[in-house]
Amino acid sequence: MENTHFRVISGLISQPLRILITTHSNPDGDAIGASLALAAYLKKKNHTVQVMIPDPYPDFLAWMDGHEDILIFNTMKSDCIQAINHAEMIIAADYNNLGRLNDAAPLVRQSKAVKVLIDHHLNPSDEFDHLISISKISSTSELVYNFIEEMGDLHLLDKSIAECIYAGIITDTGSLSYSCNYVKTYLIMAELFRLGIDGEHLHRLIYDTYSEKRLRLLGYSISDQLIVLPGFHTAYITLSKEDLQRFDHQIGDTEGVVNYALSIKGINLAALFMERDGIVKVSFRSKGKFAVNTLASQYFNGGGHRNAAGANCTTTLDETIRKFLEILPLFQSTLNSVY
Ligand code: 5GP
Ligand code: MN
Repeated sequence: MENTHFRVISGLISQPLRILITTHSNPDGDAIGASLALAAYLKKKNHTVQVMIPDPYPDFLAWMDGHEDILIFNTMKSDCIQAINHAEMIIAADYNNLGRLNDAAPLVRQSKAVKVLIDHHLNPSDEFDHLISISKISSTSELVYNFIEEMGDLHLLDKSIAECIYAGIITDTGSLSYSCNYVKTYLIMAELFRLGIDGEHLHRLIYDTYSEKRLRLLGYSISDQLIVLPGFHTAYITLSKEDLQRFDHQIGDTEGVVNYALSIKGINLAALFMERDGIVKVSFRSKGKFAVNTLASQYFNGGGHRNAAGANCTTTLDETIRKFLEILPLFQSTLNSVY
């Protein structure tokens, strides 16, 4: 495997350590799945392990083993500061620069703990001592499986670890529909089933838990708020603060909304602009060669993967959309043919 420090890390974790696993703000199924799978595995190796995230995780992930013990920086500051200060090793799972820890970032940067990155985003920052950074992989959860395999510890996998890995792979690949053109992903899936997971049940826990308001917000987003620009092969959805309030928006409720804009035939770029307290959260999705991580980082100070990226903008909703519309002509030729 490219770009790996497996052997060094194997040496590092041969003695019991206090390990803090961190993942990114606005965590998704892969962030939580990979972190909890890794935590459960490292606990079996006799380490003392905690998981910390900057802000809460969505309810549809609140079934994974260990989720109740996750430390949330925004609401449990003193516990989190203690965990950061006590850690001998800090693992960054499913993100590639410490800025994505928001207010926890400066404390983690200052910590003297060994910093290890386990992630699948392109272009990791240089803030880590050891990197397992592989972008050609479906998810960080798949990478955690590979990590356990490289450590020679597949015998330590169990059903609840397998459930976390399944959730991460499924949510980062749109239920095995993108970022998974590799044999290994399916071989790992087979292993997870061999470990006893009930894939149908888990899929329902993740995807069939909409509140009525969430479903109506999705309907409203598509029927009233979707703008299609066929000339640019682009479609986008805008949700203002009032829109979100009207549908009693909860964390995770807009997960997947942007994919509907991308599902239109001939649309190669989709965006969702969401007005939050003081910021505009943008999600970008694309098909084929069109790299939304480049667009997100060059123009919106964000990042992500080639076909799924995001940004948090301090501009107003109108300004953010205006900027998006202004830059579209720069991408005209790439948007015309993405395959
Ligand atoms: P989503 O649109 O689902 O929030 O995020 C899609 C992808 O973009 C994820 O891989 C996520 O980690 C990344 N991403 C989302 N927001 C940001 C951001 O503000 N900065 C960076 N660097 N990446 C982001
Ligand atoms: Mn991921």
